[in-house]
Parts: sequence; C-alpha cells; structure tokens
Amino acid sequence: MSTSRSVGPNSEAWFAKARERLPGGVSSPVRAFGAVGGTPPVIRSGQGAYVTDIDGVSYLDFVGSWGPLILGHAQPQVINAIMDAARRGTSFGAPSQVEIELADEVIGSYPGIEQVRFVSSGTEAVMSAIRLARGATGRDLIVKFSGCYHGHMDALLVAAGSGLATFGTPSSAGVPKGYTDLTRVLPLDDDEALAQLFAEDGERIAAVIIEPVPANNGLLLQRPEFLKLLRELTTQHGALLIFDEVISGFRLGPGGAAEHYGITPDLATFGKVIGGGMPVGAFAGPREIMGRLAPQGDVYQAGTLSGNPVAMAAGLATLQFLKANDGWNQLEARGQYLEQLVTDSLSTSPVPASLARLGSMFWIAWYADTPPRTAEAIAEQTAPLYAHVFHGLLARGVALAPSAYEIGFVSLAHTHEDIEQLAATLTSVLTDLNPPPASGVN
Ligand SMILES: *Cc1c(COP(=O)(O)O)cnc(C)c1O
Repeated sequence: MSTSRSVGPNSEAWFAKARERLPGGVSSPVRAFGAVGGTPPVIRSGQGAYVTDIDGVSYLDFVGSWGPLILGHAQPQVINAIMDAARRGTSFGAPSQVEIELADEVIGSYPGIEQVRFVSSGTEAVMSAIRLARGATGRDLIVKFSGCYHGHMDALLVAAGSGLATFGTPSSAGVPKGYTDLTRVLPLDDDEALAQLFAEDGERIAAVIIEPVPANNGLLLQRPEFLKLLRELTTQHGALLIFDEVISGFRLGPGGAAEHYGITPDLATFGKVIGGGMPVGAFAGPREIMGRLAPQGDVYQAGTLSGNPVAMAAGLATLQFLKANDGWNQLEARGQYLEQLVTDSLSTSPVPASLARLGSMFWIAWYADTPPRTAEAIAEQTAPLYAHVFHGLLARGVALAPSAYEIGFVSLAHTHEDIEQLAATLTSVLTDLNPPPASGVN
C-alpha cells in the first residue's frame, strides 16, 4: 500500500523550526496534520489551482485556504486590487469608499440585509452577532447545533451531551463553565428536539445560530423542512435566527444558503469568500437590528483594522469577478462534473463511500451509502481510513484537507482536467487501499 508520508527536506527542516517557535508548528490547529499524521508541506506560493512548497513540489489544491479562495490562488484581478489599494495606504482608521462599496455588494446580494458591519474574521463576526442578538432581544439563551462550527468564541465552544437539548459544556480548556451555561446544544435534523426546546424555553432564547449548510464537520446537508421549521419557531417565539454563512456566503451564490433555501434569517455572518483571501468577516441584517450597534445603539462592538481598505478591496474584486463572469453557475457546473466523476471513483472503494456536494463544496462520507445529516452519524472508522486516502492523494500531487471532517472546495481556477485528475488519482489510491487498512493512523 502506498501511503508515503514524506515531504521534501526543506519542508521537514522548516516545520521542525516551526514546531519550536509556534505551538504545534502552526497558527491554526488542523494545519499541523495531527489528524492524518506526517509533516505538512511548507508552502511558498500559490497560483490558480496549485500550491507549491519550499522544495518546489506542486499540489493540485482543493483546500483553497479552507474556503476563501473561490477564484483560486493569486487571481490577477484580486492581486491587482490589493496592490492598488495598498499603494494608497494600508489602513486609515476612518471611513473609506471601498467598505461602502463592499457593503453595497452584500446588501444587494443577500436577502433581508440593510446594513453591514465589517470585522476581521468569521469568529469575530459570530461573536459580535451573538452580542447584538442578545442586546436586541433582551434575552440571554443561545442555541447551537452539534456538528456546526462557529469559530472559537467561548460560549460556542461547547460539546453536545446525550439527550435531546443539552446544556453546553465547554469543549476546550480555558472556557469557564459559566461562559457556556447560557448555550443550549441541539442535534441537527431533529424536528422533535427543536420543537421541545422551544416549547420549554422559547421565550428565553435570544438567538438560534446554525450553519444552514453545515460544512465544518463533514458536509451535513440538511432537509429544507428542518430549516423551515427553525425559521417558523424562532419567529413564533421572538428569537432571532442567525445564519452563519462564513463558508456558504458568496460561495453557494450571491445570496448564500438563504437564497438557496428561500429562508431569510434575521442576521447573517460572513467570512472567507467575502475577504477574497484577506482577513475579513462581516455580520449583517435589517436596520432595525443593526441600528442597535454602537455608535447609534447600546451594543458595543469595535475594531482597529475593521473595514481595512486592502482587505475590502480583495473582497470587492472577488465578488465583482464572480458577478461579471457568471461565477456561481460556472462553479455549480464544475461541482456537478466533480460529483459525476468522484462518484464513479468511489464505486471502486473497498468500503462504502458516498459524496455530499452542494455547489462548489464537497465531502466524501466513508462507510456510508448515503451522506449523513448529523455529526453523530459519521462512522467512527472514518478518520484512520481517511488518513490513508489523504496521504495517497498527497503523494500523487493532490491536496485535500488534512482531516476527514473538513470539506473540499472547487474554485474557478479548477479546470475539467483538474477535476479529472482528482478523480483518476482517487481511483488509483482506492485501488491500492484494497483491502482496507486496519484502524490506526500508522
Ligand atoms: C471558518 C468559520 C468560522 C470562523 O471563521 P474564522 O475566520 O476562522 O474565525 C465561523 N463559522 C463558520 C461556519 C466557519 O466556517
């Protein structure tokens, strides 16, 4: 079985240095390859659909910096916009035209939005939207779903317990129990648990936050009826519905999952694509709610680099390119092609495997004839099997995310040939995998 895990000598040497200087060798945990073993290539550059490491090895990349790079790496229009903006100054701490223009794009694209506030990450967008929801409703409880990720704010780093609606217990050290006492955790895809929580506690709920396209724990596509029930119950009980569209926003289409499902949330959070590869987050909603933010209202929120003109320019150039080039339809077409080819590849898998795909987002569910809708339904043996698949692909020059639970992204830089290469390489890896390896990352 070919599961070579070697990267070149330069990556080995520099990652050894990184390990001494950065916790785990990284600035964000999954990058460290802990879930798949081995040493991550240290990347020097990216161009189109490829990244190249410091040993000069290139990889066909389906990570896309974990979602932002919907046009591919170093896309010329985006880079030009960044350079033009940077030449005029990197930060002013004052209003600038480009933030107004990017706000216009958001307002004109996403249902129900009248105002936008920019921040610098998805985490910050969610954190601020939650505070705003609590301030606007005068309520304290927050509801989230097991299997959804909303960044690393304390109150949302919670593990689900057993039972229907569970009290949040911190899933990270350093989060005081008291910080999660006002968080409830529900399973996805469970109408009954949702209805029961609202029957018991509906008048105390400030907001329910959900990834309408859960994409951080596999791609757990939801039944539209479940999302509709969520909209109905929140409205009935005066709770706000927050769509965390940090991944899906401007990737699925200009109106994100809201447009796709025909469901308008009260607030939406954005990140990733909206920054075109630069650090941008945003939260947005109707004037009635957004007007509660300082300086107009009594909900405090601020940021030294918020609305940063260079980052805004990258986001604006990205959205304008997508619009001008029929981007979302193009991405859907490439997604369909990938679905067709990868589904064929998976038919050669020695264990059952199925593809979850929506637009340009995709994920392979292992030991599953159909993709699961809840985090709990993902097979436990998935991670060790995936480690072999991942390293088999990487050794053959194709990069998926270094975790079984992270999804893949197609960009406008991916050609049909690139997608054919992914499928052919996957078939070859799966052929070598027969019979399937015993569990264990080694
Ligand atoms: C990535 C992500 C976040 C966190 O965004 P960061 O920019 O990493 O802080 C929040 N919510 C969702 C749905 C995400 O995918």
